Amino acid sequence: MTERTVNFSAGPGILPLSVLRQAQTDLISLPGVGASALEVSHRGAWFTDVIAEAEANLRALLAIPATHRVLFTQGGATMQFTMVPMNLLRATGRHADFIVTGSWGAKAWTEAAKEGTARLAWTGKDEGYVRAPETDELLASINANPAYVHITTNETIQGVEYPETPIVPDDVALVADGSSDFLSRPIDVGGYAVLYAGAQKNAGPAGVTIVIVRDDALAHVPEGLPAMLDYRTYAEHGSLYNTPPVFSIYILLLVTRWLREDIGGLEAMHERNRAKAAQLYDVLDALPAFYRGHADRSSRSLMNVTFRLPTVELEHAFIAEAAAAGMVDLAGHRSVGGVRASIYNAMPLDGVERLAAFMRAFADGRS
Ligand code: PMP
Repeated sequence: MTERTVNFSAGPGILPLSVLRQAQTDLISLPGVGASALEVSHRGAWFTDVIAEAEANLRALLAIPATHRVLFTQGGATMQFTMVPMNLLRATGRHADFIVTGSWGAKAWTEAAKEGTARLAWTGKDEGYVRAPETDELLASINANPAYVHITTNETIQGVEYPETPIVPDDVALVADGSSDFLSRPIDVGGYAVLYAGAQKNAGPAGVTIVIVRDDALAHVPEGLPAMLDYRTYAEHGSLYNTPPVFSIYILLLVTRWLREDIGGLEAMHERNRAKAAQLYDVLDALPAFYRGHADRSSRSLMNVTFRLPTVELEHAFIAEAAAAGMVDLAGHRSVGGVRASIYNAMPLDGVERLAAFMRAFADGRS
C-alpha cells in the first residue's frame, strides 16, 4: 500500500504531511550540507543550529521560563520513570507521592518504588481509571513534605486527561509525564519541577524524549549518579554529552516549526484539538445505547478517545471494517481492549469527520 491511511495509532503516531515531505526532500542531501540528516556529525554547524532552534521553538511554543532547562534524552518516557526518582528522590530521606490515573502512572510509581519511598497517594484503579482527581481530592491525598508529586497529564491507554494543570501548593514540586498530550495545548510549564514527554505522539518520531527541568530541582541531584542518568550531564553539555538522536531531533524541529508557522501556536492547536475530539464525543453522547465512552466527561482526553461497543465481537467488526475503509489502528491497548482513536495534533479534522460518520453508520446498521 502506498496511499496514506487515516492513522489513529497511539504512538508512534501520525506526523504532519508537510514535515514528512520536507524530510523526504532533505533526505539525500541537506541544502548547503551535501549529506543527509542521517549522516552528519552532531557537533557540526548544521546540527548545532538544529538543536538550538528546536529548543528555541519549544521555549516559544510553551512559554518555558528562564528557570527551566530543556534536555533531550533517550530511553523514552520509561527511562524517566527511573531518572526522575534517581535525581529527585534518592538520598532525600523523603517520599514521593504518585497520583495514578491509568496504566502509565502505575508503571511510573512501580519504578520509583525501586529508588525510594513512593506512595500511592491517589489511584483511580478501583473505579477503572475513568477520571483524574478533583483538586480537593488531590490536595488531600498529598502527605506532608513530599520530594515531589507525580502525575500523568494524559493516560494514553485509558484516555483520561486532566482538564487543566492540577493545582498543588507552591512548595510542592510537581512532576508530570506529559508524553501523550505534549504540545497539544498551552500549559503552565513554570508550575512543574519536571515535565517529560516521549516525542512519538505529538512532537516527532520515537528516539528522543523532551525533559524540562527547573533549576532548583537540578540543584539537588545527588552526587555519583551514572553520567547518562544524571540530569546535570544533559544540562551542562546542551544534551550533547554523547551522540544524541540526531534524526529524531531534526524531525522534532520540523514539527515545532509546523506548529509555530502553519498552525500558529498552541492556543490555535488546542482549538483544533477540541473541535476534533468533539466530533467523536458527540457521537458517543448521541448514541449511548451503542457506544460507551470510557472516561468520565470531566476527564475526557482530547488525544485518545476510548470507548466500548455492546460486545467484543462488535468491537472486532468495527475495527476491521474501519480498517477496510482506510481508518487504521483503532484497537484499544492490548491490556484493556475496546476501541481507541488517537487523534494527535497532526490528525486532520477530515480524518476525524470520516471516523465520526463511520461510527454513526456502523451503529445504524447494527442496532
Ligand atoms: N507514558 C505515557 C503517557 C505513554 O503514552 C507512553 C507510551 N505510550 C509511555 C509513558 C512510555 O513511553 P516510551 O515508550 O517512550 O518509553
